[in-house]
Formats: sequence, C-alpha cells, structure tokens
Amino acid sequence: MTIKRRQFIKTAGIGSLAGAAAGGVAMPAIAQSAPEVRWRMTSSFPKSLDTIYGAAEMFSRVVAELTDNRFQVQPFAGGEIVPALQALDAVQNGTVEAAHTAMYYYWGKDPTFAFGTAVPFGMNSRMEDAWMYYGGGIDLFNEFLKDYNVYGLPGGNTGCQMGGWFRKEIKTVADLNGLKFRVGGFAGTVLQKLGVVPQVIAGGDIYPALEKGTIDAAEWVGPYDDEKLGFNKVAPIYHYPGWWEGGAMLHFTFGIEKFNALPKAYQAAVRTAAMAANKDMQAKYDAVNPPALKRLISAGAQLKPFSQEVMAACSKAANEVYAETSAKNAKF
Ligand code: CA
Repeated sequence: MTIKRRQFIKTAGIGSLAGAAAGGVAMPAIAQSAPEVRWRMTSSFPKSLDTIYGAAEMFSRVVAELTDNRFQVQPFAGGEIVPALQALDAVQNGTVEAAHTAMYYYWGKDPTFAFGTAVPFGMNSRMEDAWMYYGGGIDLFNEFLKDYNVYGLPGGNTGCQMGGWFRKEIKTVADLNGLKFRVGGFAGTVLQKLGVVPQVIAGGDIYPALEKGTIDAAEWVGPYDDEKLGFNKVAPIYHYPGWWEGGAMLHFTFGIEKFNALPKAYQAAVRTAAMAANKDMQAKYDAVNPPALKRLISAGAQLKPFSQEVMAACSKAANEVYAETSAKNAKF
C-alpha cells in the first residue's frame, strides 16, 4: 500500500511538473501546431496573364504572412511542372498538393464542372459570390468535387468577358453559320447549335490563325488581356458581351487529404487567402480594363454589341443544351 501510494504521489508529481513546464514554456506546443509545410500549386495560366496568375501569387503570399512563413505554397505557371489543362488531374493524383485553375476546363469529364466557372447566360460575378459564400455553393460544389479527391474554393473572377474579335461584323443569326470561332469549352456546344464551328487554339497561336484567316473570330478574356495579344490589328470588330462567361470564376483546389491534414489555423489561412485573392482579381480587372478598352478603341477597334436577335437565339440554344444535358446527367 505504502509503495503504491508513494509511486502514485511520485507519478502525479512528475505529471504536474510536466504540465507546469508545458504551460509555462509555450514553445513545444507552438512547434506542434505550426509545422513547416511546403506545397506546390500548379496554375493553368501563364505568367503573362498577370491578373489571373497573380491570384496564385497573392494566395501564396497571404498564406505565408498568416503563418509566419511556416506554410509556404509555391506557385508554378501552366506547363512548368504540369501541363496547363491537367492541373486538376495533378491534384487528384497527388502530383501536387494544390492548383489554381478554371473548373470549366474539365467539362469534358463532366459538364457539371462548368458551374464552377461560368455557364452561358448564367450568373455574374456578384451572383456567383453570393451563391458560393451564402447560398451553399461551396458545399454543393465540393459534394461534386469529392469524387475527384479535390477540395475547391473560389479563387478569383475575371468579371464579364468580351464577345471577342471578329474579322467581319455579326449582324444576324445567319452570320454565325459556318463561322470558325476560337471559343473555350462548354460555350462551343451552345454555338454549334447555330452552325458555329468552335476551334480550340492556345493563346499564343490565336493571332497568326486570325491573321491568315484560318479562323474568322476569337474570344480571349477582356480588353486588358486581349490588348497584349494584339487581335485588334487583324480582326477589328470587338463584339460584346461574352454571354458564355458573364463572370468567369477561378478556383483554388487542394487534395482533400492534404487539406484535412493541415492544422486548423492553416486551414483558416487557406480560406482567408483564397477569399482575398478571389476579391482582389476582379478589383484589379475593373481597374485595368477600362483604360485598355480606351486604348484599343483609339487604335481602331470597333466596339459592337451582339444584336438582340443574336442574343435571343444564343439564349434559346443554351437552354436547349441545358435541357438535353440535364436529361442524361443528374449532377448537372
Ligand atoms: Ca473567354
């Protein structure tokens, strides 16, 4: 009895001393909750698209600042370590921990991905933010993403894009018939209903294709990004709006297990950095687009709205595509 009692006192004593040490000297506890973490984030974009690529840089900077530089996320431009359009796959299979990409690039896997970026005649950027942050959008979209082993958060928005550069003005629906138009992803399925022949061409190859007349028109982003590629010199009609992306939202994506394994404070840093980058990108676009549009117009660009007739026909075609897609895809 005595021995046992002595042992108990001894053990309890050591225990309380250890407790006092941990409470008084906080270092060990901090070291555990703030581990050194290094992630790679592959972007689907080139550094020349500084507004979009810049969101990955901002994300990285904010995460480092909020964690006293203990959590470092290094961004890489599209193609540096992973091909631009395989960013999601690289997160899914664990090649990288994170990606900055546009979900509609993956609409070929499932058209439901398009809702993560923009759908024709869909929401504008403010509606998207309202849906994502206050309408259950983040949770709903992650229900879908979990089949790909990925967790996603809104990561920037271009705002409404332009309709693009056309060698000849589109006045009627008939003018769309046979038009060879460089246009991204899901929008092409809508335009095909009106006779457009969608072309998939990487950014750097668009200018020569327009110049030679291999294609009749091309859409890219908006004045600030389009100006750098010089389309106005070879296709002066600048139509608007880009009704297929009334607000193109980007996403930061993370391997679900990688994200879940982070300390709670780092998860909060990730959410905060993503939200900051999401807001910052559109603020920057709204600052740089108007002066770029003025420069383009003074350099000869002819700004023209799509006619009501064209808009109505495209809207009707979009709704047909939605009805057809929904009928065979419950997630969509
Ligand atoms: Ca576009």
